[in-house]
Amino acid sequence: MEDLQNWLEDLLELQSTDSRLDRMKEQISSAPKQKKEAQDNLDAQQAAAVEAKDEVRKVELKIKELATDVEKLEAQRQKVLEQSTSVKDNNTYRAMVDEAESLKDKISDKEDEELLLMEELDGVKEVFKSKQALLKEAVNRVEQMMGDLDTRVSNCEKQVGILEEKRKEQAEKIDPELLTKYTRLKSSHGGRKVALVELNGDKCGYCHLKLTAQEINLASKRVVMTTCANCGSLIYK
Ligand SMILES: [Zn+2]
Repeated sequence: MEDLQNWLEDLLELQSTDSRLDRMKEQISSAPKQKKEAQDNLDAQQAAAVEAKDEVRKVELKIKELATDVEKLEAQRQKVLEQSTSVKDNNTYRAMVDEAESLKDKISDKEDEELLLMEELDGVKEVFKSKQALLKEAVNRVEQMMGDLDTRVSNCEKQVGILEEKRKEQAEKIDPELLTKYTRLKSSHGGRKVALVELNGDKCGYCHLKLTAQEINLASKRVVMTTCANCGSLIYK
């Protein structure tokens, strides 16, 4: 049983490799989610820019409509004024001048409205410009991020290959029964970070339950692999 101390060292080394493998795999598996989040964010910025552009178009259209209205009213007014010059009847003439006057008021109202819309147009154009700038920034950022993520994933995949080779060699040195115990424990509850745990004073380093004096004694002697009665962790001191 003199080998046990080596087992312990071997198993600790294996566990260290497994921890690194876990981290690498976590990086790889989290990449698609991170990419999707970045893409969703970009899509939202894109939608905001499109929406801002639509606002600009809407206001521009309203201004165009108003300008057309003004043109029509002006033509109408000119026609009335022209016709009034050939009217002989005084009352009819008066009525036509009044009509021309009322058309002028309408034109004036439309022009006021147009001015307000011009101001609104400046505002929505500013909004569009800022949304566009944000979008451009987001496109650059996301492009960079996607590239970085791809690099990270490919680096991690290389590391996983190397570490798995290493793990295989390390695992071969370990007693099969112990290895099975370790592996089963490590993958229990959807996978835990460590299976082999150092004693923390007189407590299990994983679940913090107090161990018996006999268990502590065994753990320090390292002659038999001690197990925490509560969480099943392999204990050493
Ligand atoms: Zn425990």
